[in-house]
Amino acid sequence: MLNGVPVPPERASAAHTVAAVLTSGRRVALTTHVNADGDGVGSEVALWHLLGARGLEPAIANPTPVPDRFAFLLPAGADRSERAAKEIEAADVVVVLDISEVSRLGDLQRAIKQSHTVACIDHHVSQGSLPGGPRLVAPEAAATAELVFDFASAVGWPLSPEAARALYVGLLTDTGAFRFANTSPRALRIAGALLERGVDPESIYESVYASAPEGRVRLMTEVLQTLVVEPDLGLAWVTVPPDALQRHAATADDLDGIVEYPRSIAGVRLALLFRQIASGRIKVSFRSMGDVDVAELSHQFGGGGHKRAAGASLDGSIADVQQQVLAAARQYLRGN
Ligand code: 5GP
Ligand code: MN
Repeated sequence: MLNGVPVPPERASAAHTVAAVLTSGRRVALTTHVNADGDGVGSEVALWHLLGARGLEPAIANPTPVPDRFAFLLPAGADRSERAAKEIEAADVVVVLDISEVSRLGDLQRAIKQSHTVACIDHHVSQGSLPGGPRLVAPEAAATAELVFDFASAVGWPLSPEAARALYVGLLTDTGAFRFANTSPRALRIAGALLERGVDPESIYESVYASAPEGRVRLMTEVLQTLVVEPDLGLAWVTVPPDALQRHAATADDLDGIVEYPRSIAGVRLALLFRQIASGRIKVSFRSMGDVDVAELSHQFGGGGHKRAAGASLDGSIADVQQQVLAAARQYLRGN
């Protein structure tokens, strides 16, 4: 148990199957889901450091750009997302982090489906639709970063301070700064082990949460104006006006956390955020409290995620999608 936190035996053996394909001389590409979050970026940056220390030269190749908020984690030259499909095609091994669904890999789907070896490290509740390959998948993990930490411990690869910092960002962001239901004793033990490796929590807080562009805060005020609450059912939602991101020079990452406001209202059990991601395509974010299982609800719309945080993308106008999703949400809440 390198790093002071024991690794469950099934995770340790899964870690060895992943390590077995990451041998020297191989060309490795690391990727994560569209609109990478702190866990996706943190996990891939940590693995980039772990592999670099073993003489490999992995490339980070994501379907969408790394949000500015997490750019501080990226070592110079590591992010080759602007030529991601080429990197995936040229790789001997692709490691997919923080997602098991090929449909969430955006424009990289075709290249990934044709890859020889696709390893996966992930904590989503999903059957998975990636091509075959070694898997370190555990839905009970607080974050994919927890599993990358376990991977390093199990195979005995030392974590540098830079890798520790990236994993801390993954754990911090996926647990909502250690507040959500996935804040397990184990997640906090791992956070402690990462602090012992030299992570500075205040500087991470500043980079991740207190370096916002002004547009992020202005966007938030506008989105919160759209709040609708149905107190009898415990339902609340907000809607991003279609041109708001552009007007505030904001990106999808700037919306992160806004859905926590409808969720934070007393008595709300289900909170939703609607936004247009392309003409005729709407993304819905689902968040819940208590027994409401949004992974289940989002499956009705071809989405997925976790029990208390999930998402889906649907075809239609905002009005059509709201009608459809709100009807299903009300029915679900009445039945619970
Ligand atoms: P968010 O609402 O913050 O985008 O996502 C919340 C959770 O739901 C994350 O774990 C994310 O991976 C998952 N998720 C979001 N959108 C989708 C989607 O379209 N399909 C699936 N399968 N999962 C999603
Ligand atoms: Mn995650």
